[in-house]
Amino acid sequence: MAVNKTSANSDKQTQLVMAARREQELREQSYRGQALKMYPWVCGRCAREFTHKNLAELTVHHRNHNHDDNPADGSNWELLCLYCHDNEHSRYEETRFSGIQTRKASAPVATHNPFADLKSLLGSKK
Ligand SMILES: [Zn+2]
Ligand SMILES: [Zn+2]
Repeated sequence: MAVNKTSANSDKQTQLVMAARREQELREQSYRGQALKMYPWVCGRCAREFTHKNLAELTVHHRNHNHDDNPADGSNWELLCLYCHDNEHSRYEETRFSGIQTRKASAPVATHNPFADLKSLLGSKK
């Protein structure tokens, strides 16, 4: 019974590659799995709901955009559907390259001058 040693060697190499790849996959799956356990299966942007059927379209977004930052409390994770996730990242790139846009909030402008009436009142009394 002869054992083919060369094929055993290349097997070991593929195993190493496979192991490294699997490790990466497991890492992704583990935070995804944790996030899916922790949060309801709803997109954080468009509120689309997910079931086991379309769960593949629900992704885990890293709030600080660092995929290596996976705190156990899930504070860096956000569940987003593929589309919103895409959106989120393109928006992030935009703000990164064009600088933070200070969007002019529709802040209530004080159009009413509380002293206007007083002035006319004082003026009429004079
Ligand atoms: Zn969405
Ligand atoms: Zn993301």
